[in-house]
Amino acid sequence: MKASFDVITIFPNFFSAYLNEGILKKAIHKGLLDVKIHNLRDYAVDKHKTVDDYPYGGGPGMVFKIEPIYNAVESIKADGVERVTILLSPVGKLYTQETAKNLLMLNKRLLLICGRYEGVDERVRELIVEEEISIGDYVLTGGELPALVIIDSITRLVPGVLGDDMSCLEESFTTGLLEYPHYTRPAEFKGLKVPDVLISGNHQQIKRWRRQEALRRTFIRRSDLIREKELSPEDLEFLRQLKNTDSKV
Ligand code: SAM
Repeated sequence: MKASFDVITIFPNFFSAYLNEGILKKAIHKGLLDVKIHNLRDYAVDKHKTVDDYPYGGGPGMVFKIEPIYNAVESIKADGVERVTILLSPVGKLYTQETAKNLLMLNKRLLLICGRYEGVDERVRELIVEEEISIGDYVLTGGELPALVIIDSITRLVPGVLGDDMSCLEESFTTGLLEYPHYTRPAEFKGLKVPDVLISGNHQQIKRWRRQEALRRTFIRRSDLIREKELSPEDLEFLRQLKNTDSKV
């Protein structure tokens, strides 16, 4: 399994810094990630390489024209490889860890279209795009950061990308809970001690402590994530006790 992407953008240089560092760089070298960046201006239909125009009806800002996007998508798809075409947009469906997992499981190349300015001509949605994704309820200047968010979050789920494949199994959201707290050396800093159980060497107790801290943290910070149906009787008892106490995490 590998993660593979095409990205359409007017800022192709934007991507190299992020893709050429750390885990993503290694993933590319291992052949587990493939990203091709396409410059939208190469698909403009006039000699000035125009990709945007004034909005019909007036108003501020510019809008990406449909022809360059249409031409870019047609040209990219000409290789016959199966793809899902996705528009990055604040009005899209909210992106979650579940979305990342589902998109990876499709086992298809993802074609990400990055908007700028006021966004794209509405007909891009009607004619070209299969999915529309927002990475959060805020507005960025362009779709490049959202594209990198999607590339990063999907790539780290590909087996072999992380040093230890178990790391992504216990992470926040993957288990339906926020992750438990982590500590490393020193064992004490400015009077704050690492919990004794983590130094005890008792793996059973460590596992239990981590589960309970994940439950506590999720209950306090994001109780909307808790799906009681998926919890064990021991989890439910712990939650019941939590509800009767004042905790802060
Ligand atoms: N006028 C648009 C609106 O109000 O919905 C905002 C356009 S935004 C300034 C320019 C581009 O940034 C969008 O076309 C989209 O590609 C990208 N973008 C901005 N915020 C985003 C978000 N939260 N999620 C995904 N893409 C986003």
